[in-house]
Amino acid sequence: MRYIEPHAHMVSRTTDDYQAMITAGCAAVCEPSFWAGFDRTSVQGFYDYFLQLTQYEPNRAKKFQLPHYSWLCINAKEAEDIKLAEEVISIIPEFIEADNVLGIGEIGLNRNTKNELTVFEMQVDFACKHNQMILIHTPHLEDKKKGTKLILDVLENHSQVDPSKVIIDHVEEHTIQMVKDLGYWAGVTLYPDSKCSKARAVDLLEVNGLDNIWLNCACDWGVSDPLAVPKTAIEMKHRGHNDETIDRIIFQNPNQFLSQNPKFKL
Ligand SMILES: [Zn+2]
Repeated sequence: MRYIEPHAHMVSRTTDDYQAMITAGCAAVCEPSFWAGFDRTSVQGFYDYFLQLTQYEPNRAKKFQLPHYSWLCINAKEAEDIKLAEEVISIIPEFIEADNVLGIGEIGLNRNTKNELTVFEMQVDFACKHNQMILIHTPHLEDKKKGTKLILDVLENHSQVDPSKVIIDHVEEHTIQMVKDLGYWAGVTLYPDSKCSKARAVDLLEVNGLDNIWLNCACDWGVSDPLAVPKTAIEMKHRGHNDETIDRIIFQNPNQFLSQNPKFKL
């Protein structure tokens, strides 16, 4: 088996996780900027985090022969303070040209507040201005449908946004089709408790088709499983999907999306 893990917060994981991932066939890992497990108190905290994502973590992954890519932004969970957000966005140009940076993400909404929406729009503007791909986080549970609609409205109002270069992550049964209908990519996040189980993810693929969709584990500081993608591949096999279909979902699709940035090379 070969697969790409397109959304994992490796700064929160141990070397055992890296070893398990390469043993399972991981060919590359991509790390969107996210919360640090605590709220950072200043722009300097983000500066150090961006150094970690563009220098330290790629080197750590290299020790396991695993190519590591990252996405930069201020995440929705810390986007309530607009002044801090402006400061963080102002330092991103220093890092955007790094060899492993694929675009802006994971931006989006957390609790669908007015300030989160303002910061989301600022970062969509930034991505357009700098010709960057975009990775989007959608809110949890009861806020997901409303948040996804708000996000799609902002994107549709930006004429420079190319939907084929935007992935909207953490989709579920009630949001996947509205994302795909507008030409965006959809990410399905596999979590042991919340988000999507392995069985639900395979149902989603069977109902909504195999195009423009990727699976990810989004492993972080919470209860999560860095091997959720290969485990879901086994679930697909149990349900009668052939090797070509499995390879398409866990390797070819993420490769197709990510390769739109020439920096992504396997
Ligand atoms: Zn994430």
